[in-house]
Amino acid sequence: MNIKTYLLCGTVALAMASCGGNAKKQTIGSSETKAAVQAIGGDSLYTLAVQVGDVQAMWIRDNAAERLMPRTLFPDASDALMDSLGLAGGVPSSVSVFYVKTDGAGILFDTGLGAADSRLLSGLQTFGVVPADVKYIYLTHMHGDHIGGMLAADGTAVFPNAEVYVSQPEYDFWMADKANRQQAAAMDAYRDRLHLFHFGDTLPGGVVAMDAVGHTPGHTVFQVGKLLVLGDLMHGAALQQVRPEVCATYDMDKEAAARVRRHFLRYAGENGLVMAGMHLPVPAFD
Ligand SMILES: [Zn+2]
Repeated sequence: MNIKTYLLCGTVALAMASCGGNAKKQTIGSSETKAAVQAIGGDSLYTLAVQVGDVQAMWIRDNAAERLMPRTLFPDASDALMDSLGLAGGVPSSVSVFYVKTDGAGILFDTGLGAADSRLLSGLQTFGVVPADVKYIYLTHMHGDHIGGMLAADGTAVFPNAEVYVSQPEYDFWMADKANRQQAAAMDAYRDRLHLFHFGDTLPGGVVAMDAVGHTPGHTVFQVGKLLVLGDLMHGAALQQVRPEVCATYDMDKEAAARVRRHFLRYAGENGLVMAGMHLPVPAFD
């Protein structure tokens, strides 16, 4: 395995050899990578580029401050379980987005919180990407920490050329209630280039949209090559990879959320996929 790691002021670019999917997965979680990540560590690490077959996947940590999902977010987990996993004080997490280059197209998966200290645009810049370069935005769902970066403070679209894709049921759910102003404003700003897809559709760039309903009514997992973009399948990986039946309070349909979590964890394992999760701990690949 040929691993090259570059450390560049807060950025780790990791080039990996092209070999079997399982090998790649191990590389991302390898001790070399972890050591490189720890060498930068903490708040200063916020981007990472990995090559997964033909797909170039770039991670950006949108949150500037450390992120710990509070223990109270997982009320169904017993104190004994949390203690045994060392998670009584909370579960390590992040608010992450991914920028993927495949077939020459630049695809942004979700847009983070859009907070004043968001690292979305500065993170893209570390890869030489400006907002006008983003050709597609694929949304896993429409919670505020996933669509917040679509709009500037003045309510205009941040990405002037991006075609936006979201699942039909997700769009229908949020648009049915006028109280959902943030969602309505985001969709309105991109209304001339908005596309509603169905589960099973293949989107531009060869990205397959997969049914992961549970967290929200149209929650989507995307697969491109050997990369699986999880969205909010897991909010506390250290807990939910061990106990996929445990839901976060954010999951709107807990039974369905637990079912698809189990399904996609098994699917990723069986197919040697690299998982990219919006709330996986730093760096948000597994
Ligand atoms: Zn989220």
